[in-house]
Amino acid sequence: MKAKDIAELMDEPACEHNKKAKSGCAKPKPGSTAGGCAFDGAQIALLPIADVAHIVHGPIACAGSSWDNRGTRSSGADLYRIGLTTDLTEQDVIMGRGERRLFHSIKQAIDTYRPPAVFVYNTCVPALIGDDIDAVCKAATERWEVPVIPIDSAGFYGTKNLGNRIAGDSMIKHVVGTREPDSIPENLQRHGVRVHDVNLIGEYNIAGEFWYVQSLFDELGIRILCTLSGDARFAEVQTMHRAELNMMVCSKAMINVARKLETTFGTPWFEGSFYGITDTSEALRNFALCLDDPDLMKRTEALIEREESNIRARLEEWRPRLEGKRVLLYTGGVKSWSVISALQDLGMKVVATGTKKSTEEDKARIRELMGEETKMIDDGNPRELLRIVEEYRADILIAGGRNMYTALKARVPFLDINQEREFGYAGYEGMLELVRQLTLTLDSPVWQAAKSIPPWETAEKPGGMALISSLTDKLPTNNEADASTRGITNSGIGD
Ligand code: SF4
Repeated sequence: MKAKDIAELMDEPACEHNKKAKSGCAKPKPGSTAGGCAFDGAQIALLPIADVAHIVHGPIACAGSSWDNRGTRSSGADLYRIGLTTDLTEQDVIMGRGERRLFHSIKQAIDTYRPPAVFVYNTCVPALIGDDIDAVCKAATERWEVPVIPIDSAGFYGTKNLGNRIAGDSMIKHVVGTREPDSIPENLQRHGVRVHDVNLIGEYNIAGEFWYVQSLFDELGIRILCTLSGDARFAEVQTMHRAELNMMVCSKAMINVARKLETTFGTPWFEGSFYGITDTSEALRNFALCLDDPDLMKRTEALIEREESNIRARLEEWRPRLEGKRVLLYTGGVKSWSVISALQDLGMKVVATGTKKSTEEDKARIRELMGEETKMIDDGNPRELLRIVEEYRADILIAGGRNMYTALKARVPFLDINQEREFGYAGYEGMLELVRQLTLTLDSPVWQAAKSIPPWETAEKPGGMALISSLTDKLPTNNEADASTRGITNSGIGD
């Protein structure tokens, strides 16, 4: 990828950072890809396209460090779960065999799996030795008549965020607009109801959570042409240009896709979230408003009223167990405000939240939700997180998986909110799962047991000292230990 193309992606006009005096993302500093390189970001963004053969062109470690690392689910095809790599070695580098290896790998993937398309991810080594993956993909497309899409995402180009944008850019350049959508299916055709086509950008169907929301769209007569990229198929990505409206789902990672679809095909977009009752209703309402269909607005309001009253009634029995509990929420970027809103719907109090990856706009929204006094955490190192848990008397830490052991070692209840989680929390139904997981975590008897003083540390507890003395009685003295060690050495092993 040329330096000017990278600079262009780093300077996304629709991004909030560009509204400041200094525009564009900062150049990556040494070590800044430790949280994921550009290749990692590109693969995270596109791997959920379930029927595509995803080939990582590079040493096997690149594929190994990122394959299947997100909990996205597919409703059918599962080719995305198979890790494919050209497995470059030193010999391939020395002998200049990278391009040939890639060509043969594409052939093998097509022969074995018959995919509708192949995605080829570039990594650092082939980028450094100058493999022309564009030319190889073009030749392979012509030879086997299967679209082979180059994703030029070498790790050293930048961070995970840049990789997300490279992935989105590749879809716009090579895939979107290459096919027309199917005719409207019968289950969406009803008398007198106009069906609208939309896209969701940045929805990853973590733990299958989007399926909680899908049925609401079906009921309203809104057809989702593509969710880029949770549970998506290649053919769906090809039709994204025909949507009337796009929604950016809780993440600005692929904001360039929304902007380019607007500038190229005139598709308007808005940003929203499906976490929490309030935000789910607002997202549905925004669809009806932006699509400017009075009948749809009426049906949407009726659906919101029905779903909200239904879910609020079902949540009522859980409320006493969660109401007033204090939460420290440490999650990246825009997810913070959407999760805050969900927790507030449950009557919980978010006492502090992470804002490391949040824009000024996100922070303003957090302040609006939590008040001016809210504690925003920019540096969430383990020691600082635990200090804040103590200072703000948090009952639970809700964060990404990497903070799990910090919390557990400090005996603080912990709930994983990031992509690796096992449970889906989106939509109205997802709230019930969130409540269930929060309650299971908070009410687990393990916290009380872990926080209590063990019997061998206190003399007051009946049996405490007795237990210690009975244990110490059984321990060998220094002389006995020496003798037994000598015995083992002299007898068993040498004989
Ligand atoms: S692409 Fe580069 S930075 Fe990323 S995993 Fe591979 S070698 Fe490491």
